[in-house]
Amino acid sequence: MSDNTLKPGVVTGEGYKTLVEAAKSGGYALPAVNVTGTNTINAVMEAAAEANSDIIIQLSNSGGQFYAGRGIKDAFKAKVVGSVAAAQHVHLLAEYYGICVAMHTDHANKALIPWIEALLDEGEKYYQQHGKPLYSSHMLDLSADPIDFNLSESARLLERMAKIDMSLEIELGVTGGEEDGIGSEFEEGADNSKLYTQPEDVLRAYELLNPIGHFSVAASFGNVHGVYKPGNVKLRPEILKNSQALVQQTCGTGNNPLHLVFHGGSGSEKAKIHEAVGYGVFKMNIDTDTQFAFSKPVGKFVHEHARAFAYQVDPEDGTPYKKQYDPRAYLRLGEEGIVARLLEACEDLGSRGKSIARG
Ligand SMILES: [Zn+2]
Repeated sequence: MSDNTLKPGVVTGEGYKTLVEAAKSGGYALPAVNVTGTNTINAVMEAAAEANSDIIIQLSNSGGQFYAGRGIKDAFKAKVVGSVAAAQHVHLLAEYYGICVAMHTDHANKALIPWIEALLDEGEKYYQQHGKPLYSSHMLDLSADPIDFNLSESARLLERMAKIDMSLEIELGVTGGEEDGIGSEFEEGADNSKLYTQPEDVLRAYELLNPIGHFSVAASFGNVHGVYKPGNVKLRPEILKNSQALVQQTCGTGNNPLHLVFHGGSGSEKAKIHEAVGYGVFKMNIDTDTQFAFSKPVGKFVHEHARAFAYQVDPEDGTPYKKQYDPRAYLRLGEEGIVARLLEACEDLGSRGKSIARG
C-alpha cells in the first residue's frame, strides 16, 4: 500500500519489506519472540495489541516439535508439522489482534537444513493455494561453518525462498552462549574475530545475496545467547555501524542498507540497544526473558496454592480446589507475565504505538 500501512494479520513479501523499512526509518525495532504453543503465541499477540506494536513470532525447531507434541515418535516429522501448525494458528488468528505479525523460524544450523527444506516444501504448497508463503522468513545459522559454505548455502536456499516471497535471515560470526555451545568464559574485550563479525564478511554477503532476494543479517558484536551475569556482555555496536558504512560506500547504496538483527539481547544495557537500533537493527530476539516471565507467576501461584496441586478436595476440611488446579488458572498467569515483559520490550525497542496495521 502506498501509504505504508498494512492490513492486520501475518505479513509476507512486499508487506514484510514495508514492515522492515517502517521500523528502520522510524528508528525502532520489533521484538522477535520465541514461542512453543498456543499460550505463548496468544500472549505475544495480546502484548503486541496492547502495546499497539507490530511483532515477530518465531519458532525454533524444538519449539515446532513441542507445538506438535512430544507424543509424536518421529522427531523430525514433528519439527516440520509442528512448525506448520503453529504458523497456521497465527495466520488464522493474527488479524483479530489488529496488529501485523511476521512469522519467522529461528536458528537452523547445518544439521537442520533438511528441516528448512521440508518447511519450504510446505511453504511452496501453501503459496500455490493462498498466494503467500506460510512463513515470512526462515533463518540459517551456518556461522560455525566456513564462511564460503555459509554464503553458498544461504544463496542456494534464498533462490528458493525468493520465488515464494520469503526473506532469509543469516548469521555471520559466532554469537556466544548456550545455543552455540560457546561459554561465557571468553576474555572480555579480547579482539576475537570469531566473536565479532568482520564488516568485510558482511559486504561479501550483501554482494552475493542482495541480487537474489530479501535478506537480513544477525551480526555478532559481543552479544551472547541466553542470560549471563551482568558485565559478561560487552557490546560493541560500532561493528554494525562499520558494516553499514562499508556496504554503503562500496555498493553506492543509501544510508543503512543492511537489515540487521540483534541476537542474544536478553540482559543488554538499554543504551547499547538504542545505539544498535540506530545502526539499522529492526529485530531483536527475545527468548530467555519471556520464558522466565511466563514461569515466575506460575511458580508463585503453585507455591501459594500448594494444597490445590496435591488434592482435588482437601482431605482435612473438604475445600474443593477445582478453581486453582484448572490449568487455565495458572496458564493465564503465565500469559500475563509474557504480556507485561513484552510491553517493556516494546518500550525499550521504541516500537510501542508504532503499529502500521490499519483497518
Ligand atoms: Zn544467533
